[in-house]
Amino acid sequence: MADYILAIDQGTTSTRAIVFTHGGEIHTVGQKEHEQIFPKAGWVEHDPAEIWDNTREVIGTALGKANISNSQLAAIGITNQRETAVVWDKNTGEPVYNAIVWQDTRTSKIITELAGGDLEEGADRFKDICGLPLATYFSGPKVKWILDNVEGAREKAEAGDLLFGTTDSWVVWNLTGGTEGGVHITDVTNASRTMLMDLKTLSWSEEVAEAMGIPMSMLPEIRSCSEVYGESTKLGVPIAGILGDQQAATFGQACFEKGMSKNTYGTGNFMLLNTGTEIVRSENGLLTTLCYKIGEEEAVYALEGSIAVTGSLVQWLRDNIGLIQDAPEIEDLATQVDDNGGCYIVPAFSGLFAPYWKDDARGAIVGLTRYVNKHHIARAALESTAYQTREVLDAMNADSGVDLPELRVDGGMVANETLMQFQADILGVDVVRPKVAETTALGAAYAAGIAVGFWEGVQDVVDNWEEGQRWSPQMGEEERERLYRQWKKAVTRTFDWVDEDAERAEEAVEEAEGEAQDG
Ligand code: ADP
Repeated sequence: MADYILAIDQGTTSTRAIVFTHGGEIHTVGQKEHEQIFPKAGWVEHDPAEIWDNTREVIGTALGKANISNSQLAAIGITNQRETAVVWDKNTGEPVYNAIVWQDTRTSKIITELAGGDLEEGADRFKDICGLPLATYFSGPKVKWILDNVEGAREKAEAGDLLFGTTDSWVVWNLTGGTEGGVHITDVTNASRTMLMDLKTLSWSEEVAEAMGIPMSMLPEIRSCSEVYGESTKLGVPIAGILGDQQAATFGQACFEKGMSKNTYGTGNFMLLNTGTEIVRSENGLLTTLCYKIGEEEAVYALEGSIAVTGSLVQWLRDNIGLIQDAPEIEDLATQVDDNGGCYIVPAFSGLFAPYWKDDARGAIVGLTRYVNKHHIARAALESTAYQTREVLDAMNADSGVDLPELRVDGGMVANETLMQFQADILGVDVVRPKVAETTALGAAYAAGIAVGFWEGVQDVVDNWEEGQRWSPQMGEEERERLYRQWKKAVTRTFDWVDEDAERAEEAVEEAEGEAQDG
């Protein structure tokens, strides 16, 4: 009798395997971090071989702790960091280059070229097809970079020897046998982040692939999020669910009705609003993306507000500034003052994502006076996450024409109660954290379990979802709007920073880093 589901969460900083029970509770966990490789300023890579090794290891850890036989596993579900691109040789199973991670900005020249030379003008060139603006964030331009820059890659790709995939594809191909008959697939949610998928037909767009010089033979088959794709050769268990991490969290948060939304607070923040079977085009800087598709059922779409830097600002204060020793300590600092002392931090470290999509913005701390101290800085750092979320929520309200009644939250930062209260205050709506905050892995487990009949359908997910904690707004309307207006003003101070001089300065940093590495 199968009593459990195994979820694999191939994340940005680590890979985890979690065994879930039928009640949606965590039974056991295996987790391992992988190396973040920064070859130059703005470049971020992972070693795909390390990711695959870690995947096997964490599965072993979770199953070992669970002390169950393989036959007790009903299915395997997979969720993953989205957009991160892997290109490998199908004959040898070897990646031709490291995985280029979603945060990597090396494709900025490529996207400006694709936009016809001016990103302000041409960013929306493919938006009608794929729902996304041209940005360094998405996978397609990363694949183009590999084909353009790795010796021999383009010839091999054109000969049909190379495969592309996001990390779900890479893991599934390896799990199902790799060079010995591995299946080369992805799901609609991951495919919707490449810029290469047509949102309406849910198939690859030849037009975009051709514009980016990507041979169609490299692309994985696009499947639904919940169906049997193949079997793990090692475990003999069906792989039956795939969702990109943010969509998996939306699924795990049981946001199945049009108008429901969740916000995940991790390295960055990602808010998704279920827009039902309708494709809503954003007028306010949001992305149009797939929410999920269960087997043969109609696809469900979402609007997404992606914020590049939230939790990673806390990491920056820890690692680069030394303000804190560990992330939770920021709350101790911030609670020693009642407000931000007039100080705002806009963490536009690599430009601004939603709702601005400005490549040329750079971070700023504004409103400094002799009065401001480290407690205000800590507070301003936390508040920046809440303000950025408000901007995305406002955009969602504007696009959808309805005001969201409450916000379901998850991710590492939601442990911070000060932030959650401030979030409710600045939004003016309730913020709700579920009991099981591991919504990402849980979502993938549900998708897989539904495909094999372990769960009957989404109603089981709704029934299992339980409220953990709720924060209600306590701040007055006038105060809320005054603070928010100041935030908006602070944001404008980051615009148009990157010009020729700033570019030269960034190049000098790159050179110095290169020399330091060589020496
Ligand atoms: P990801 O899945 O993107 O790797 P997580 O959901 O694990 O991220 O969240 C980790 C992020 O949350 C880190 O960037 C960390 O700085 C931040 N974080 C963790 N705990 C706290 C806390 N108590 N207060 C503020 N930020 C926190």
